[in-house]
Amino acid sequence: MAISPFRRRILFLVALGVALPAVMLSGLAVYLTSRIARSIENDTARYNTYLAQQVAESFELELMDHLRRAVASAEQVAREGGAPGAIVRALAADGGEFAGPHFVPTADLSGYSLLIVEGQPLLYALGDGRHRNQYFCGLLLRSPDGNVTGAGGWWVDPVRFVGGHLEVVVRERLPGNPRAYGGIELIKRTSIEIFDGRGARIGRVREPGDARAASTEAMAGPFEKLTVRVSVTSDSPIVWTMRFLKLELAFALVMGLAIVVATLFGYVYTVRQIELATLKAGFVSNVTHELKTPIALIRLAIDTLEMKRFRSPEEEGKFLAIIGRETQRLTQLVDNILDFARLEAGRGVFRYDAVDLAPLVRDAVESLKPRLDHLGFQVAMDVPESLPAVQADATTLTHCVLNLLDNAIKYSKVHKELRIAADVRGREVAVSVADRGIGIAPGDRKRIFEKFVRLENGLVHEVRGAGLGLSLVDQIMRAHHGRIEVSSTPGEGSTFTLVLPMMAAVPAGTAEPQSRTGT
Ligand code: ADP
Repeated sequence: MAISPFRRRILFLVALGVALPAVMLSGLAVYLTSRIARSIENDTARYNTYLAQQVAESFELELMDHLRRAVASAEQVAREGGAPGAIVRALAADGGEFAGPHFVPTADLSGYSLLIVEGQPLLYALGDGRHRNQYFCGLLLRSPDGNVTGAGGWWVDPVRFVGGHLEVVVRERLPGNPRAYGGIELIKRTSIEIFDGRGARIGRVREPGDARAASTEAMAGPFEKLTVRVSVTSDSPIVWTMRFLKLELAFALVMGLAIVVATLFGYVYTVRQIELATLKAGFVSNVTHELKTPIALIRLAIDTLEMKRFRSPEEEGKFLAIIGRETQRLTQLVDNILDFARLEAGRGVFRYDAVDLAPLVRDAVESLKPRLDHLGFQVAMDVPESLPAVQADATTLTHCVLNLLDNAIKYSKVHKELRIAADVRGREVAVSVADRGIGIAPGDRKRIFEKFVRLENGLVHEVRGAGLGLSLVDQIMRAHHGRIEVSSTPGEGSTFTLVLPMMAAVPAGTAEPQSRTGT
């Protein structure tokens, strides 16, 4: 008996009322957190780009400073009208770390490029031959009349220059740069790397921590083939902030998910509890009815017999048969309730013995013979003389077979044919009860094994039952390391099969019970 669609809808709306605001709030938290994270990431990337530009400019300044100092004597010689040879000698004397002193007269300067560093022109040109990968870097020199006579300079290897001056630039020049916003503290939490044209790292200051907000900027002038990459170090406050934000994001997500799962679980649980309560109420009224009907019939038969209100010995026999049948039914019901109570209380203690199912099945069918004959059933038996032994509690197994037979009788109203078979399947023994009754719809083949469940089919009100039989059989079979299988075609009949492992195949300990299967 299922919960009414109306009640189910109300419950669902209540669950939705709890889950939806929670999901919306956690969704909002997720959205805001990711917005904050993205904004921090963008700001950091912007700052890193700016810093990379400052680093690139600092190298230009560093080069310019060195060139200016080294070219001072050559400038003096040129201003005094010295010949190119004298200028080159002065360049060679003061070049310091620069090699290849060189004077380029004004007429030859057309192929040279210009970089303005702090308002001063720096002339440069990529060399070839033995000066491949080097740049001529020079400053303008003037004659005594103040006109430019040419450029004096040296061959500079930008990779070597940057490699040799990285520490000075980053640790001294950059923190002193008033345009490097954020001051020393922020720069300390920054990783600066320089790469050559092929992507190989020339040098770095501090290991990068988080690559996401890293910025890469191309350098200019004689350093045009190099790039600067600025990223935050792993101990940067930004990295910590991002970590906390990530945690917060995960927390908000998990909270939302947990609330949805909890609400869903609560909804399913409540529906199940209501269903169970409804089923239990139905069970009590079913059992009361089940007890009252046979008692009333027995009472009537006894009264009739006592008052000798029968006309012939055959009629007397009929009343005795009613008493026998109804007593049998009462016994089965009471057995079912007792077995059920025992199993529910976890006291499913069975007395295991080696049992031959063949005589057990035959006896069970025989005990129902009067009822079968009375109702006009045709019974076909396909049970061998004996079967390999199974380890089982014979009385409880008899209850199982009786339950299947009882159902087969109850749910066959038109074609009253039963077929009871038993055989060996590999290492298992199977007993099946087939009827040509009303059958079971595919969607119900699992539910019928739940306790108190009676299907809302055409016969449920006509046929007596407490909804316990199959649930009991299922539990008993599991306790015996066996299973119950069902195959059915609605309108054509059903076959229930009990499958038990042969005695030798039963595991020594109490292995996990197997599940039932349905087709
Ligand atoms: P009940 O006391 O109602 O027979 P069971 O647990 O034995 O309880 O069976 C549960 C339900 O399964 C029955 O109410 C019936 O709808 C269905 N059922 C069981 N056996 C058969 C069968 N042989 N043919 C059709 N339906 C069956």
